[in-house]
Amino acid sequence: LSKAPLSAVLLAASRRPALRRAVTGTPATRRVVDRFVAGETLDDALGAVRTLTADGIAVTLDHLGEDVTDRAQARRTRDAYLAALEALATLGLGTAAEVSVKLSAFGQGLPDGHDLALELVRPVVEAATAAGTTVTVDMEDSRTVDSTLAAVAELRKEHPGTGAVLQSMLHRTEDDAKTLAVSGSRVRLVKGAYDEPDTVAHRSRKDVAAAYARCLEILMSGPGYPMVGSHDPAMVQRAHELAAQHSRAADSWEVQMLYGIRTDEQRRLAAAGTRVRAYIPYGSDWYAYFMRRLAERPANVAFFLRSLATR
Ligand code: FAD
Repeated sequence: LSKAPLSAVLLAASRRPALRRAVTGTPATRRVVDRFVAGETLDDALGAVRTLTADGIAVTLDHLGEDVTDRAQARRTRDAYLAALEALATLGLGTAAEVSVKLSAFGQGLPDGHDLALELVRPVVEAATAAGTTVTVDMEDSRTVDSTLAAVAELRKEHPGTGAVLQSMLHRTEDDAKTLAVSGSRVRLVKGAYDEPDTVAHRSRKDVAAAYARCLEILMSGPGYPMVGSHDPAMVQRAHELAAQHSRAADSWEVQMLYGIRTDEQRRLAAAGTRVRAYIPYGSDWYAYFMRRLAERPANVAFFLRSLATR
């Protein structure tokens, strides 16, 4: 382990319950977490929704939690999303405020988990449609991709606005992008936040970025609705070039960034006429999400360690 890159160590730590207790039990962690998470309650999240949408930035709400270990937890995930959608409906923001879900939080990893997750996420998608908005289904580790894409295909039959997520780091993704680059399909393209073996994924940053650019080209040249999920200036610029090259209308694609990351750039892009959506996580189960954000950027780890040292 000592020779593993820092990001791999952090990603391994994101799935260790003992470390979760140590990190989340440290009061100083809270201040750092606040940079990436809107708060623990739905009200906290709605505050962020109001602020961002007032600035012309659309949002997608993520109720934190993943890898549930029993059905009761999975049902609580469904209920948390139903409450969020009820609140969003009263704000009347339409598709400017949608939700993102992780199927592992709906029981995907349990026995018969595919069917269970689909059964529990369906009412959430129905509530989103009733509220005039959409659901995007996040992508998790590579073992879940087939099940998750199948679930999205199933949900899209009655709710065609349901969004999928593709990770450019996976070798399979160019083929998936070709399959999903069809009329009416919403696809968020990201690099991928999980530690994957080289049998299924590109391992170097350069290869992941090159694959991202290839997938972007497939999606931006097709008739679907691409959602460019990246903070990387090179990818965002490439998306704008492709939009111009394919004469895309400004409302036929969007850039997505995470809450608390490159917020000035989110505002600048929105003011310049690009559709921008911020992904807003909220809730008390922030540990795994937080560790993935640390793994993405060594500077965030330094920021975290400094705050522990100066508490
Ligand atoms: P990077 O190459 O990591 O970074 C480029 C630059 O962006 C950095 O130099 C820095 O300036 C800035 N930056 C990037 N990350 C950070 C950070 N954490 N803190 C501060 N600055 C930073 N992954 C999944 O596997 N499944 C998903 O469903 C998923 N959904 C996502 C939704 C959205 C809206 C976004 C933006 C990302 C999502 N991700 C998801 C995460 C994604 O896979 C990447 O891990 C993450 O976005 C980092 O890659 P990047 O393209 O932003 O560029």
